This record gives sequence, C-alpha cells and structure tokens, in this order.
Amino acid sequence: MAETWLPWCQKRPGDRSRTGYFLKSTRSLAEIRYQVNHSAEGWEAYLRAGSAPGASWTFSNLQGGKMYQHYPLELPTWTSGGRRQNIDGLAVEHEGVAGQLLNAAQVTNDRRLYEDLNRLCPNMRIPRLGEGFREHGELTNGATACPSGRIQPLYDSYAVVQPPTPPNVWDDIVTIPTKQVTLYVDANLRTLPAGVNIKTLPKGTVLTVSGRYKNSHYLTKYSMDNKKSNGFAISATIDPTPPPLPPEEDDMMKYVAFKGFKAIYALAGGELIHVPNPPVMSYQMGAGNSWSHETHDVNDPDPAKKALARALADLPTQFGKLPKALGGV
Ligand SMILES: [Zn+2]
Repeated sequence: MAETWLPWCQKRPGDRSRTGYFLKSTRSLAEIRYQVNHSAEGWEAYLRAGSAPGASWTFSNLQGGKMYQHYPLELPTWTSGGRRQNIDGLAVEHEGVAGQLLNAAQVTNDRRLYEDLNRLCPNMRIPRLGEGFREHGELTNGATACPSGRIQPLYDSYAVVQPPTPPNVWDDIVTIPTKQVTLYVDANLRTLPAGVNIKTLPKGTVLTVSGRYKNSHYLTKYSMDNKKSNGFAISATIDPTPPPLPPEEDDMMKYVAFKGFKAIYALAGGELIHVPNPPVMSYQMGAGNSWSHETHDVNDPDPAKKALARALADLPTQFGKLPKALGGV
C-alpha cells in the first residue's frame, strides 16, 4: 500500500489494529471525498495516541498550532459513526471541549489540510459544510452532539470567497446527456458566473458531466444534481476514446460504406456471409428471400473492383469475427 503522510504534520503513528474493515483494509486517495470534523472533548495527552479502544482518527488539530498525523491517508479509521463515512471521510479531532470555538491556529491547520487533500485526492469535494467538510453529528443523524458547533470559524473563513449562486444563472445552463470527459490540462473549478476559483482539477481527471453553461463551461453531474453552479472550461477537456465497436453486422456495413463502396452498402439489411477463398472473395448478402451474390477478384484489372475486393478481404481482420462463415461457393 502506498502511504501518504503530510510532511508538515508531526508523525505520531497510531495502533494499526484499530483501522480498516473486513475486505476493506485500505483505500485509494480517490476514495476520499471529505474530512469529518470532531470535537475531541479532551486534550493533547489523550489525542497523541491517535486511537483508543474501538476508535482511531487520522489527524489531531491542537490549540497550540501543532497538527499530528496518526495514520497514512490510505487507512480508514474508526470514529465517524459508520463504515461508509469512515471510508469516504478523513477524521480530524480538534483539541478542546464544547463551548470553545476553533482558535486561529486550528483554522489555519484545517485550511492547510484541506488544501493538501484537495490537491492529493481527485474527488475531494468543495470546502463547505455538507460537502468537503462533514460533521460527526450530521453523519449520524444527530446521534452525537460532536463537534458542538466548534468548527464554525473554519466554515466562515471559506464563506467570504463563496458568493451565493444568483438565481438567474440557471437560465444560462442547459442539461446535456451525461457523459465522461478527461482534462488534458489542469483546470479550475469556478463558481458561475462569478468565476471565483473553488479548486484546481488536475490534468488527467475524468469527470462525469451533465450540464453546459453558455457553451463555455461544463457542469459536473454532481453540480447539476445538487444545484451548484460550479463549472470548468469546456476547452480544457477531451471526450474519452469511444470503446471499440462490436463485430455487429451493422458495423460491417458502416465500414464498407465508410470505404465508399456504395454498391455493397446497398445490399445491406440482411445477413452477411464470409467465404474465404483467395484470391477470389465471394460475399453473399441479402434480406429475406432477395439474395444477391457477387464475386470479387483481388487481381481484378479494374482498380475500383480490385480495391473493393481487397477491402472485402480485409473485413475479417477489421472485425475479428463475422456472423457466419461458410465454405467455398
Ligand atoms: Zn466526533
């Protein structure tokens, strides 16, 4: 397993027997989607171990300005109230108790952490509560008071650069059939139409898109489903190479048509039978009772007929397999 440790955090390895799940001992960075904020309801002396019986967490954010990392990002820890959020999320314990808002040093640590996760984890969500930031109580339907509103200063620190979506922006956004595109350069995800940067999407990221803004930006399916007007430049993307066509009869007909042999294409609509009998290639094509039969010689003196015979001879290698192969005619 690759192990990602953030160099600016103090490494305090925790007990690894208190991480992971049955058949899911590790995760990839692409699986991490948010950080889960907790109130430690305690102090450094408790936090430094990174775990306790039945619990473990990745980061301890201390009031004095230190940040401990107890496990590599790839190990799911146990503290956010369920398997799903322990795998999707990355747990951060905040030193202190209910009633103490995060201090400035803790906000700085959390922002730096988010910045790193946003760079390292391609599916990290945007820095807002309910998206890139989740809370223990929220993820457990209020089963715990944790983190007791203590994280608010962190969310407020982002709120100033997150203008609300103007209601009329949706007039300029159209729904398109869902598809995947690939970034061939780094691209910025921006709020539309304000253009405020939210995060950088690294080159090579594959994104599922289902909306378009003024023909200049794509909106991800996530943005469309959640009514977030966040998009990135269409010009930074390419569509993925389509999968190879299956060896269906229709595709063979298209191939022949593509090669410009209209006479053969006109016979399409029924069964195509390949008769390997070089140098003379014979094909029968037909629909229902109206069969046609043609013989083509790869040594035909007529260049057009010769080219046609060669293209037909090439069909089996183009498609690997034909629907039906018979012996000589
Ligand atoms: Zn908690």
